[in-house]
Amino acid sequence: TAKFAGKNTYSFFTPAMYDQSQKRLKIVSELRRALTRQEITLVYQPIVNAFSKEVIGAEALVRWNNEVLGSVSPLDFIPLAEELGLIVEMSDFIIAQAVAQCAQWSMYRADFLMAINVSPRQLRDNRLKRSLISAIESNNIHCHQIMLEVTEGVLVDNVDAALSFLQELTEQGFQLAIDDFGTGYSSLSYLKTFPFHRLKIDRSFIHDALLSHEDETLVRIMADLGHQFGMTVVAEGIENRGQEQLVEKLGIEAYQGNYFSPPLSPGDFQSLIEKSKDNGVILI
Ligand code: C2E
Ligand code: MG
Ligand code: MG
Ligand code: MG
Repeated sequence: TAKFAGKNTYSFFTPAMYDQSQKRLKIVSELRRALTRQEITLVYQPIVNAFSKEVIGAEALVRWNNEVLGSVSPLDFIPLAEELGLIVEMSDFIIAQAVAQCAQWSMYRADFLMAINVSPRQLRDNRLKRSLISAIESNNIHCHQIMLEVTEGVLVDNVDAALSFLQELTEQGFQLAIDDFGTGYSSLSYLKTFPFHRLKIDRSFIHDALLSHEDETLVRIMADLGHQFGMTVVAEGIENRGQEQLVEKLGIEAYQGNYFSPPLSPGDFQSLIEKSKDNGVILI
Protein backbone atom coordinates (compact mmCIF):
# COMPACT_ATOMS: atom_id res chain seq x y z
CA THR A 1 0.00 0.00 0.00
CA ALA A 2 1.08 3.55 -0.68
CA LYS A 3 2.65 5.54 2.12
CA PHE A 4 3.28 9.25 2.41
CA ALA A 5 6.42 9.52 0.35
CA GLY A 6 9.58 11.21 1.50
CA LYS A 7 10.96 14.24 -0.34
CA ASN A 8 12.66 12.42 -3.16
CA THR A 9 10.36 9.51 -3.69
CA TYR A 10 7.43 9.16 -6.03
CA SER A 11 4.05 8.51 -4.64
CA PHE A 12 0.97 7.13 -6.30
CA PHE A 13 -0.99 8.23 -3.29
CA THR A 14 -3.38 10.78 -4.75
CA PRO A 15 -5.62 13.23 -2.85
CA ALA A 16 -8.63 11.13 -3.79
CA MET A 17 -7.02 8.10 -2.23
CA TYR A 18 -6.23 10.16 0.84
CA ASP A 19 -9.92 11.02 1.19
CA GLN A 20 -10.80 7.38 0.74
CA SER A 21 -8.38 6.23 3.40
CA GLN A 22 -9.51 9.01 5.75
CA LYS A 23 -13.07 7.85 5.28
CA ARG A 24 -12.04 4.28 5.94
CA LEU A 25 -10.12 5.28 9.07
CA LYS A 26 -13.20 7.07 10.29
CA ILE A 27 -15.40 4.04 9.66
CA VAL A 28 -12.85 1.77 11.33
CA SER A 29 -12.62 3.90 14.45
CA GLU A 30 -16.41 4.23 14.64
CA LEU A 31 -16.91 0.50 14.15
CA ARG A 32 -14.47 -0.33 16.96
CA ARG A 33 -16.71 1.59 19.36
CA ALA A 34 -20.05 0.59 17.87
CA LEU A 35 -20.76 -2.31 20.21
CA THR A 36 -19.96 -0.52 23.45
CA ARG A 37 -21.96 2.49 22.30
CA GLN A 38 -24.91 0.19 21.64
CA GLU A 39 -25.12 1.20 18.00
CA ILE A 40 -25.44 -2.41 16.89
CA THR A 41 -29.00 -3.74 16.99
CA LEU A 42 -31.02 -6.54 15.47
CA VAL A 43 -34.21 -6.42 13.45
CA TYR A 44 -36.34 -9.46 12.72
CA GLN A 45 -38.08 -10.42 9.50
CA PRO A 46 -40.99 -12.86 9.84
CA ILE A 47 -40.64 -16.23 8.10
CA VAL A 48 -44.08 -17.31 6.96
CA ASN A 49 -45.59 -20.72 6.21
CA ALA A 50 -46.67 -20.36 2.57
CA PHE A 51 -49.82 -22.45 3.01
CA SER A 52 -51.20 -21.42 6.39
CA LYS A 53 -49.62 -17.93 6.47
CA GLU A 54 -48.53 -18.59 10.03
CA VAL A 55 -45.38 -16.87 11.23
CA ILE A 56 -43.08 -19.81 11.94
CA GLY A 57 -40.07 -17.78 12.93
CA ALA A 58 -37.80 -14.86 12.11
CA GLU A 59 -34.49 -14.05 10.50
CA ALA A 60 -32.24 -11.89 12.66
CA LEU A 61 -30.65 -9.10 10.61
CA VAL A 62 -27.98 -6.87 12.10
CA ARG A 63 -28.09 -3.06 11.87
CA TRP A 64 -25.48 -0.42 12.57
CA ASN A 65 -26.72 3.10 13.21
CA ASN A 66 -23.99 5.64 13.70
CA GLU A 67 -24.30 9.32 14.52
CA VAL A 68 -21.82 10.39 11.85
CA LEU A 69 -22.17 7.67 9.23
CA GLY A 70 -25.89 7.12 9.48
CA SER A 71 -27.19 3.64 8.78
CA VAL A 72 -24.48 1.34 7.42
CA SER A 73 -25.43 -1.85 5.55
CA PRO A 74 -24.33 -5.20 7.02
CA LEU A 75 -22.98 -5.99 3.55
CA ASP A 76 -20.42 -3.23 4.19
CA PHE A 77 -19.62 -3.50 7.88
CA ILE A 78 -19.64 -7.29 8.36
CA PRO A 79 -16.65 -7.78 6.01
CA LEU A 80 -14.88 -4.90 7.75
CA ALA A 81 -15.62 -6.35 11.17
CA GLU A 82 -14.12 -9.63 9.95
CA GLU A 83 -11.03 -7.90 8.68
CA LEU A 84 -10.57 -6.02 11.96
CA GLY A 85 -11.16 -9.08 14.10
CA LEU A 86 -14.26 -7.51 15.62
CA ILE A 87 -16.56 -10.17 14.22
CA VAL A 88 -16.10 -12.58 17.12
CA GLU A 89 -17.37 -10.14 19.69
CA MET A 90 -20.08 -8.90 17.36
CA SER A 91 -21.36 -12.36 16.57
CA ASP A 92 -21.41 -13.28 20.26
CA PHE A 93 -23.65 -10.27 20.74
CA ILE A 94 -25.85 -11.21 17.77
CA ILE A 95 -26.19 -14.80 18.99
CA ALA A 96 -27.01 -13.75 22.56
CA GLN A 97 -29.67 -11.28 21.41
CA ALA A 98 -31.26 -13.52 18.78
CA VAL A 99 -31.41 -16.57 21.04
CA ALA A 100 -32.93 -14.58 23.92
CA GLN A 101 -35.51 -13.19 21.50
CA CYS A 102 -36.26 -16.69 20.24
CA ALA A 103 -36.93 -17.79 23.81
CA GLN A 104 -39.33 -14.89 24.31
CA TRP A 105 -41.30 -15.64 21.13
CA SER A 106 -41.39 -19.35 21.92
CA MET A 107 -44.20 -18.37 24.31
CA TYR A 108 -46.40 -17.85 21.25
CA ARG A 109 -45.16 -20.83 19.32
CA ALA A 110 -43.22 -23.59 21.03
CA ASP A 111 -41.02 -24.39 18.01
CA PHE A 112 -40.41 -20.76 17.01
CA LEU A 113 -37.51 -20.73 14.53
CA MET A 114 -34.73 -18.15 14.68
CA ALA A 115 -32.48 -17.83 11.62
CA ILE A 116 -29.02 -16.39 12.24
CA ASN A 117 -26.57 -15.48 9.47
CA VAL A 118 -23.05 -16.84 9.83
CA SER A 119 -20.06 -15.32 8.07
CA PRO A 120 -16.87 -17.03 6.83
CA ARG A 121 -14.64 -16.03 9.74
CA GLN A 122 -17.07 -17.44 12.28
CA LEU A 123 -16.69 -20.90 10.79
CA ARG A 124 -13.00 -21.00 11.51
CA ASP A 125 -13.05 -21.78 15.19
CA ASN A 126 -15.05 -23.47 17.90
CA ARG A 127 -16.22 -20.27 19.46
CA LEU A 128 -19.39 -20.22 17.37
CA LYS A 129 -20.48 -23.59 18.71
CA ARG A 130 -19.63 -22.64 22.30
CA SER A 131 -21.50 -19.33 22.04
CA LEU A 132 -24.55 -21.02 20.54
CA ILE A 133 -24.67 -23.76 23.14
CA SER A 134 -24.21 -21.41 26.05
CA ALA A 135 -26.94 -19.13 24.66
CA ILE A 136 -29.48 -21.90 24.12
CA GLU A 137 -28.76 -23.41 27.54
CA SER A 138 -29.15 -20.16 29.42
CA ASN A 139 -32.36 -19.36 27.51
CA ASN A 140 -33.79 -22.86 27.75
CA ILE A 141 -34.64 -23.37 24.08
CA HIS A 142 -33.89 -26.30 21.74
CA CYS A 143 -31.01 -26.40 19.26
CA HIS A 144 -33.41 -27.19 16.42
CA GLN A 145 -35.06 -23.79 16.92
CA ILE A 146 -31.88 -22.15 15.68
CA MET A 147 -31.17 -22.14 11.97
CA LEU A 148 -27.73 -21.06 10.81
CA GLU A 149 -27.64 -19.48 7.37
CA VAL A 150 -24.47 -19.77 5.32
CA THR A 151 -23.86 -18.58 1.78
CA GLU A 152 -22.10 -20.61 -0.84
CA GLY A 153 -19.14 -18.24 -0.64
CA VAL A 154 -18.53 -19.41 2.90
CA LEU A 155 -18.10 -22.95 1.69
CA VAL A 156 -15.67 -22.51 -1.18
CA ASP A 157 -12.94 -20.95 0.97
CA ASN A 158 -12.13 -24.10 2.83
CA VAL A 159 -14.51 -26.93 2.13
CA ASP A 160 -13.05 -29.48 4.55
CA ALA A 161 -12.88 -27.16 7.53
CA ALA A 162 -16.33 -25.69 6.85
CA LEU A 163 -17.76 -29.18 6.48
CA SER A 164 -16.43 -30.43 9.78
CA PHE A 165 -17.67 -27.35 11.68
CA LEU A 166 -21.09 -27.51 10.09
CA GLN A 167 -21.37 -31.25 10.68
CA GLU A 168 -20.60 -30.75 14.35
CA LEU A 169 -23.33 -28.13 14.56
CA THR A 170 -25.95 -30.30 12.88
CA GLU A 171 -24.97 -33.27 15.05
CA GLN A 172 -25.60 -31.02 18.01
CA GLY A 173 -29.10 -30.41 16.60
CA PHE A 174 -28.84 -26.97 14.99
CA GLN A 175 -30.54 -26.47 11.63
CA LEU A 176 -28.56 -25.38 8.64
CA ALA A 177 -29.68 -23.38 5.60
CA ILE A 178 -27.92 -22.55 2.36
CA ASP A 179 -28.58 -18.83 1.88
CA ASP A 180 -28.85 -16.83 -1.36
CA PHE A 181 -28.95 -20.07 -3.31
CA GLY A 182 -28.18 -19.72 -7.00
CA THR A 183 -25.88 -16.71 -6.68
CA GLY A 184 -22.13 -16.71 -6.28
CA TYR A 185 -20.12 -19.85 -6.65
CA SER A 186 -22.95 -22.28 -6.97
CA SER A 187 -21.71 -25.77 -7.04
CA LEU A 188 -24.34 -28.44 -6.92
CA SER A 189 -21.88 -30.74 -5.19
CA TYR A 190 -22.35 -28.67 -2.01
CA LEU A 191 -25.87 -29.98 -1.83
CA LYS A 192 -24.73 -33.56 -1.50
CA THR A 193 -21.69 -32.78 0.66
CA PHE A 194 -23.18 -30.45 3.27
CA PRO A 195 -25.97 -31.37 5.68
CA PHE A 196 -28.45 -28.60 4.81
CA HIS A 197 -32.01 -28.69 6.10
CA ARG A 198 -33.27 -25.69 4.15
CA LEU A 199 -32.55 -24.03 0.86
CA LYS A 200 -33.21 -20.31 0.52
CA ILE A 201 -33.78 -19.17 -3.05
CA ASP A 202 -32.13 -15.81 -3.60
CA ARG A 203 -34.46 -12.89 -4.04
CA SER A 204 -32.95 -11.93 -7.42
CA PHE A 205 -34.60 -15.00 -8.98
CA ILE A 206 -37.88 -14.27 -7.23
CA HIS A 207 -37.74 -10.71 -8.47
CA ASP A 208 -37.51 -11.77 -12.12
CA ALA A 209 -39.75 -14.84 -11.96
CA LEU A 210 -42.94 -13.03 -12.94
CA LEU A 211 -41.12 -11.12 -15.67
CA SER A 212 -39.54 -13.95 -17.57
CA HIS A 213 -40.42 -17.55 -18.19
CA GLU A 214 -36.75 -18.53 -17.85
CA ASP A 215 -36.55 -17.08 -14.37
CA GLU A 216 -39.72 -18.80 -13.33
CA THR A 217 -38.19 -22.02 -14.60
CA LEU A 218 -35.05 -21.41 -12.54
CA VAL A 219 -37.11 -20.89 -9.39
CA ARG A 220 -39.07 -24.06 -10.13
CA ILE A 221 -35.88 -26.06 -10.69
CA MET A 222 -34.25 -24.73 -7.50
CA ALA A 223 -37.36 -25.62 -5.51
CA ASP A 224 -37.42 -29.13 -7.02
CA LEU A 225 -33.71 -29.51 -6.37
CA GLY A 226 -34.18 -28.63 -2.72
CA HIS A 227 -37.11 -31.00 -2.38
CA GLN A 228 -35.28 -33.84 -4.14
CA PHE A 229 -32.50 -33.46 -1.60
CA GLY A 230 -34.98 -33.64 1.25
CA MET A 231 -34.76 -29.95 2.13
CA THR A 232 -37.44 -27.46 3.01
CA VAL A 233 -37.42 -24.52 0.60
CA VAL A 234 -37.71 -20.86 1.58
CA ALA A 235 -38.20 -18.04 -0.94
CA GLU A 236 -36.61 -14.65 -0.17
CA GLY A 237 -37.78 -11.20 -1.15
CA ILE A 238 -41.50 -11.79 -1.78
CA GLU A 239 -42.74 -8.28 -2.57
CA ASN A 240 -46.20 -8.79 -4.06
CA ARG A 241 -49.20 -11.06 -4.32
CA GLY A 242 -48.07 -12.44 -7.68
CA GLN A 243 -44.82 -13.69 -6.20
CA GLU A 244 -46.67 -15.14 -3.24
CA GLN A 245 -48.94 -17.05 -5.63
CA LEU A 246 -45.93 -18.39 -7.48
CA VAL A 247 -44.48 -19.67 -4.24
CA GLU A 248 -47.78 -21.43 -3.47
CA LYS A 249 -47.94 -22.88 -6.98
CA LEU A 250 -44.41 -24.30 -6.78
CA GLY A 251 -44.92 -25.92 -3.40
CA ILE A 252 -42.28 -23.76 -1.69
CA GLU A 253 -42.91 -24.22 2.02
CA ALA A 254 -42.03 -20.81 3.44
CA TYR A 255 -41.19 -17.28 2.43
CA GLN A 256 -39.97 -13.93 3.64
CA GLY A 257 -40.33 -10.52 2.11
CA ASN A 258 -41.67 -7.02 2.34
CA TYR A 259 -45.07 -8.19 1.04
CA PHE A 260 -45.75 -9.89 4.37
CA SER A 261 -43.44 -7.73 6.45
CA PRO A 262 -40.08 -5.96 6.26
CA PRO A 263 -37.58 -6.61 9.07
CA LEU A 264 -39.04 -5.22 12.34
CA SER A 265 -37.75 -3.96 15.66
CA PRO A 266 -38.32 -6.46 18.51
CA GLY A 267 -41.24 -4.35 19.75
CA ASP A 268 -42.95 -4.21 16.36
CA PHE A 269 -42.40 -7.93 15.83
CA GLN A 270 -43.96 -8.61 19.21
CA SER A 271 -46.99 -6.48 18.30
CA LEU A 272 -47.34 -8.33 15.00
CA ILE A 273 -47.50 -11.74 16.62
CA GLU A 274 -49.80 -10.54 19.38
CA LYS A 275 -52.16 -9.01 16.85
CA SER A 276 -52.09 -12.15 14.72
CA LYS A 277 -52.85 -14.25 17.75
CA ASP A 278 -55.88 -12.11 18.60
CA ASN A 279 -57.19 -12.36 15.04
CA GLY A 280 -56.75 -16.10 15.18
CA VAL A 281 -55.23 -16.00 11.70
CA ILE A 282 -51.55 -16.53 12.24
CA LEU A 283 -49.64 -18.69 14.72
CA ILE A 284 -50.29 -21.86 16.68
P1 C2E B 1 -29.58 -12.16 3.60
O1 C2E B 1 -29.26 -13.06 4.71
O2 C2E B 1 -29.89 -12.78 2.27
O3 C2E B 1 -30.80 -11.28 4.11
C1 C2E B 1 -31.89 -10.88 3.31
C2 C2E B 1 -31.79 -9.43 2.93
O4 C2E B 1 -32.91 -9.09 2.08
C3 C2E B 1 -31.89 -8.47 4.11
O5 C2E B 1 -31.07 -7.34 3.81
C4 C2E B 1 -33.36 -8.05 4.10
O6 C2E B 1 -33.61 -6.82 4.72
C5 C2E B 1 -33.63 -7.99 2.62
N1 C2E B 1 -35.04 -8.15 2.26
C6 C2E B 1 -35.99 -8.83 2.95
N2 C2E B 1 -37.16 -8.79 2.30
C7 C2E B 1 -36.97 -8.08 1.17
C8 C2E B 1 -37.83 -7.69 0.07
O7 C2E B 1 -39.02 -8.04 -0.02
N3 C2E B 1 -37.25 -6.97 -0.91
C9 C2E B 1 -35.95 -6.60 -0.87
N4 C2E B 1 -35.47 -5.88 -1.89
N5 C2E B 1 -35.12 -6.94 0.14
C10 C2E B 1 -35.63 -7.67 1.14
P2 C2E B 1 -30.07 -6.77 4.91
O8 C2E B 1 -30.75 -6.80 6.24
O9 C2E B 1 -29.54 -5.48 4.39
O10 C2E B 1 -28.91 -7.82 4.96
C11 C2E B 1 -28.07 -8.01 3.86
C12 C2E B 1 -27.13 -9.19 4.08
O11 C2E B 1 -26.23 -8.91 5.15
C13 C2E B 1 -27.84 -10.47 4.50
O12 C2E B 1 -28.39 -11.11 3.37
C14 C2E B 1 -26.70 -11.22 5.15
O13 C2E B 1 -25.89 -11.86 4.16
C15 C2E B 1 -25.89 -10.10 5.79
N6 C2E B 1 -26.24 -10.05 7.23
C16 C2E B 1 -27.32 -9.46 7.81
N7 C2E B 1 -27.32 -9.66 9.14
C17 C2E B 1 -26.22 -10.40 9.43
C18 C2E B 1 -25.65 -10.94 10.64
O14 C2E B 1 -26.20 -10.81 11.74
N8 C2E B 1 -24.49 -11.65 10.53
C19 C2E B 1 -23.88 -11.86 9.33
N9 C2E B 1 -22.76 -12.57 9.31
N10 C2E B 1 -24.39 -11.37 8.16
C20 C2E B 1 -25.54 -10.64 8.21
MG1 MG C 1 -29.85 -14.77 5.47
MG1 MG D 1 -30.48 -14.55 1.79
MG1 MG E 1 -28.88 -12.01 0.51
